[in-house]
Amino acid sequence: MNNDILYAPWRDQYVAGAKNIECVFCKISKNIDSDIENRVLYRDEICFVVMNLYPYTPGHFMIIPHRHLQNLEDLPENEWLHITKLAQRGVKLLKEKFRANGANIGMNLGESGGAGIAEHLHLHVLPRFNRDTNFMTTVANVRVYSTDFEAIYNNFINFAEQYFKD
Ligand SMILES: [Zn+2]
Repeated sequence: MNNDILYAPWRDQYVAGAKNIECVFCKISKNIDSDIENRVLYRDEICFVVMNLYPYTPGHFMIIPHRHLQNLEDLPENEWLHITKLAQRGVKLLKEKFRANGANIGMNLGESGGAGIAEHLHLHVLPRFNRDTNFMTTVANVRVYSTDFEAIYNNFINFAEQYFKD
């Protein structure tokens, strides 16, 4: 009995860790009811748009197909075109509503391509601001952005439908 108590915290952590093996993007894709909690900005039948919880820069979001696919070449062409269409609209949103001067869009394909979650394709879209490079490399970290994160999401969600929806 004592042993059970002693080992309980360790076991809890182990079980929690095991559960997390489920693809995080599939989890977000399926849990429509948790969209606000997951910081989903928009979803349709092909993909969803979600804020990156570990942003490179404030306003960083991702466009992710519902399909759990590792290889870009396996994604049906119409779905790829749809995702790029949303990327184009997302850049417009960042420029018009977040005063972005520029943007980066890109995909890291496969682990060797630098993907954090290689098993599920995702397209990054992030705003860039004049002279933000120094700021990013010197002081950028999750804590700096955490207070802004809610405000950015709440602001974003006001415009998401308007920009992403046909
Ligand atoms: Zn997945």
